[in-house]
Amino acid sequence: MNIHEYQGKELLRSYGVRVPNGKVAFTVDEAVKAATELRSTVTVIKAQIHAGGRGKAGGVKVAKSIDEVHRYASEILGKTLITHQTGSEGKVVKRLLIEEGCDIKNEYYIGLVIDRFTSKVVMMASEEGGTEIEVVAKRSPEKIYKEIIDPVVGLQAFQARRLAFNINIPNELIGQTVKCMLGLYKVFTEKDCSIAEINPLVTTKDGIVMALDAKFNFDSNALYRNKDILAYRDLDEEDEKEIEASKSDLSYISLDGNIGCMVNGAGLAMATMDIIKHYQGEPANFLDVGGGATSKKVTEAFKLILSDENVKGIFVNIFGGIMKCDVIAEGIVEATKQVDLNLPLVVRLEGTNVEAGKKILIESGLNITSANSMADGAKKIVSLVK
Ligand code: ADP
Ligand code: MG
Repeated sequence: MNIHEYQGKELLRSYGVRVPNGKVAFTVDEAVKAATELRSTVTVIKAQIHAGGRGKAGGVKVAKSIDEVHRYASEILGKTLITHQTGSEGKVVKRLLIEEGCDIKNEYYIGLVIDRFTSKVVMMASEEGGTEIEVVAKRSPEKIYKEIIDPVVGLQAFQARRLAFNINIPNELIGQTVKCMLGLYKVFTEKDCSIAEINPLVTTKDGIVMALDAKFNFDSNALYRNKDILAYRDLDEEDEKEIEASKSDLSYISLDGNIGCMVNGAGLAMATMDIIKHYQGEPANFLDVGGGATSKKVTEAFKLILSDENVKGIFVNIFGGIMKCDVIAEGIVEATKQVDLNLPLVVRLEGTNVEAGKKILIESGLNITSANSMADGAKKIVSLVK
């Protein structure tokens, strides 16, 4: 789960990381009121969407008067912001962060990710702040410094100092920088993050180190124990189909292709997408209906797949272990009746009660293409959608 910058900054502040004073605003009036209360000579108006690259896309504006705050807030609120992270459809701005302008001397990058290679949390730092880390990694990888963190002892002050030193933080500001790094690490571990990034972390002309941006991603499987984080959830920023899916307890991720997939088990779902691609098709989604799916859940899953307008055909690939093939078959029949399906449907069933399942499908009289194997099913659905 992602959160907004202003929420991230709230979190950072509570962990002792310095951030500019600021307030969230949902309307132009609120923006003006917030700016008036801030009383700073320069005010920054920042679009709050779950995507980076706002600066370059016109989502971050510097205002020198309340009139300008009014103008920029009216301009940005309600606007569809297209950044390199939003996709071509962009995102509508519904919230603004009204923040004190900061007299920046230098911009740096610090971030934490889980490194799959070492299976540990890694802190990265770079003096190329303000630029995306992916771009720095390509252009000048030697400018990214890393510290692998031992989970038993956590990020050590000497590691943070070494990073600060490597990215050329002036000596007198190393103490403050270390404090930011340790605070960020504490948020990361205590709140079950998968990504935590401050880009830019800045030094100011009057010798302060602070976070000017904040990006966090949280492990959804840990939200049950982070109720404060869950309260930050903004459904407006999430894919509607994925929200529906989470209500029905289905693991669903929408993708760009045209072949809807309904599969049980995450591993089989991944393999199904692979085999579709292998036969030159494009999956429209990842969908794992889970092990103990009922026919109602299968119906929900079907509706979800069909709510995607790009879907031109569906491939059901089920291995009945705990899940029984006849239950799946009943769900498929029920769903196709309810949603009035007229797209090609390929079904591959294997496992518990497979004969009963196949019988239900045949007797339903529905136009279903059955497949004998995964490869056979993938080939069939790819040619049917062409
Ligand atoms: P994004 O990463 O989405 O482009 P940022 O929050 O990083 O958005 O802002 C982009 C740039 O705008 C920053 O690199 C910084 O130079 C400038 N900026 C952001 N907030 C402030 C602020 N409070 N005062 C001064 N400059 C700011
Ligand atoms: Mg940024």
